[in-house]
Amino acid sequence: MSTDDTNDNTTSSWRNATRAVRGGTERSQFSETSEALFLNSGYTYGSAEEAEAAFDGSKPRYVYSRYANPTVTMFEKRLAMIEGADFARGTAAGMAAVFCSMACFLGVGSRVVASRAIFGSCYYIINDILPKYGIEAVFVDGRDLDQWKQALATKTDAVFLESPSNPTLEIIDLKAVCDLAHESGAKVIVDNVFASPSLQNPLSYGADVVVYSTTKHIDGQGRCLGGAVLSNDKEYMEEQLGAYLKHTGPALSPFNAWVMLKGLETLSLRMDKHCENAIKVAEFLESHDRVARILYPGLPSHPQHELAMQQMSAGGSVVTFDVKGGKAEAFSMLNNLKIIDISNNLGDAKSLATHPATTTHQRMSPDERALVGIGDDMVRLSVGLEDVDDLIEDLDQALNA
Ligand SMILES: *Cc1c(COP(=O)(O)O)cnc(C)c1O
Repeated sequence: MSTDDTNDNTTSSWRNATRAVRGGTERSQFSETSEALFLNSGYTYGSAEEAEAAFDGSKPRYVYSRYANPTVTMFEKRLAMIEGADFARGTAAGMAAVFCSMACFLGVGSRVVASRAIFGSCYYIINDILPKYGIEAVFVDGRDLDQWKQALATKTDAVFLESPSNPTLEIIDLKAVCDLAHESGAKVIVDNVFASPSLQNPLSYGADVVVYSTTKHIDGQGRCLGGAVLSNDKEYMEEQLGAYLKHTGPALSPFNAWVMLKGLETLSLRMDKHCENAIKVAEFLESHDRVARILYPGLPSHPQHELAMQQMSAGGSVVTFDVKGGKAEAFSMLNNLKIIDISNNLGDAKSLATHPATTTHQRMSPDERALVGIGDDMVRLSVGLEDVDDLIEDLDQALNA
């Protein structure tokens, strides 16, 4: 089922907090309050004629959960409403969303221009997998508009970027890059995981497609994998992405969709708290004498603080910093944490810290890591929902140990 009726008369006037709690709800014949979990793969037909009509498209309905499922549809509609998008599709994981958003319309001879500072697996897809299908990949420093201009002077099919980026929290001027990309004939795909729909809506700056790992803030409690692709482009969502998902099968599990649907109800409350804690942690780390450098878009010291605050309503949940010394000192800090867990996940209620160079970005060569500024002394901290004073005390004792 598509999500093109989310802007009907009853719901289009709702504000976002109402959309987050009620958007997309479809009650069954039992009139349940909380959304139902339809844990089924198939559907039954009252007659052979009904099945025929479902398959020839004359009577649209659910036919198989690889194509669509009512719980997944509710999640897609709610997320679309919060994002302000006409269409949304759920996927099994964020990486399925990233891959399918490009694979569904690119082919031999296509060209992708991407920012270099992106999540390790996104980099692998663009740098290693897409070229096997005859798709040219070009990387630029996303902060440098001249590099975008130069790369996009050649006709391009897709632009892929992350802002803020993982883990260096680079900010890309979304409006400027979208304008350049459109002149070059490219669709702009923004991985909006770090900001979440609650802090930044790339479609409003001209992006054509937004992708999420809903595993992160949208679940927000470290339970389920999921992803999503959103756009206002009906042809792209139905003819290209819709057909690709239907036939290749990276469907979002109804159970995971149900968890994420409930996650959306508290997303903005949680994001407010994540950001409130993160700025306090960032301010503390900035003044700590064991910290060599701190990157947080919400701090005035961030090189693109002003742009970040134009595009985002707050700085986000992730704080990245360099520990004075190198790998040994960064590892020692991580090993001495008592509350904060070592984990490569992010966007969880629990604060999580990771060493990008040896985990999430370990696949990149040392030279590639150096180009995006990921050193052996770097720690990425996903600030959770605990009492911020406990987090600060934990970081302080771990840094001083
Ligand atoms: C985690 C992450 C992904 C991948 O999502 P999965 O749900 O783990 O597949 C993609 N992009 C960014 C920025 C991420 O942080």
